[in-house]
Amino acid sequence: MKQPIENTPLEEIKDPVITDYGIRLFIKRDDLTHPAISGNKWRKLKYNLQQAKKEGHKTLLTFGGAYSNHIYAVAAAGLWMDFETIGVIRGEEHLPLNPTLSFAKEAGMKLVYMDRTTFRTHESPEVLQSLKEEWGDFYTVPMGGSNVFALPGCQEIVKEIEAEPLTFDYICCACGTGGTLAGILSGLKDGQQAIGFPALKGGEFLYDDIHKLLEEASVDVPSSQWTLNCDYHFGGYAKKKPELLAFMEAFEERNQIPLEFIYTGKMMYGVYDLIQKGYFPEGSQIVVVHTGGLQIKNG
Ligand SMILES: *Cc1c(COP(=O)(O)O)cnc(C)c1O
Repeated sequence: MKQPIENTPLEEIKDPVITDYGIRLFIKRDDLTHPAISGNKWRKLKYNLQQAKKEGHKTLLTFGGAYSNHIYAVAAAGLWMDFETIGVIRGEEHLPLNPTLSFAKEAGMKLVYMDRTTFRTHESPEVLQSLKEEWGDFYTVPMGGSNVFALPGCQEIVKEIEAEPLTFDYICCACGTGGTLAGILSGLKDGQQAIGFPALKGGEFLYDDIHKLLEEASVDVPSSQWTLNCDYHFGGYAKKKPELLAFMEAFEERNQIPLEFIYTGKMMYGVYDLIQKGYFPEGSQIVVVHTGGLQIKNG
């Protein structure tokens, strides 16, 4: 298993479609981190794995849906960093395994299925205790990998951009649990703004989750410096619409940058729409973070 790369490239998107709007758009190519460990998933795992080693754990246990990029990433990272891995999957087993789960299994992850009702309370001490009784000691990586240890890794995205000869005004990323955005917020300077684009419907609940994460990590960032734009979910998590797919195809063709429809396609659609609606003042420098997730394209 290859090692993930950091210091991913920062590229300017010189797209004729947006050149008339007086802004400059850049993309942080975290999709190039690793073929199996989706960009932001590695950022979130990095310090969790260090913490697990420090605490002397040999096994990682985590949770996810059957199509989770996080499950995929934990399986790959475990193999690379010499951890046993257990993936607790929501719902029943379906055979043959889908590409995500068969990858995880091949990477040595033990797959355990949990009924949906129990899964809703998977973070409760009772459920964790019964998992410990069954599987022995482990380090728990939360669903999506978003906890306080996820933040410093995602903060490094901002630090790497800051090390470039570029000062940005806006940074944009897709949100699932909001952990990536929280880490990015922890790296912002005065005057910089962050916009998160929830991939799920009703993403406003993420304000609370993100505030909680920031508080837990003692990060103080004024709420005037960030916002969630909940207008680009296209019907909900993993839902797609023809206009989204058409946008993605045209974007990929013009810019030679691949997107996927669950997160990065929706975020990029939103950023383009906001540019074209004049949301960003003239002269703005905008960075979008490509959080990866492209392994779903390769089956
Ligand atoms: C998981 C994922 C996200 C969401 O990240 P959060 O930290 O959960 O908000 C965004 N983009 C991609 C490609 C992902 O796989």
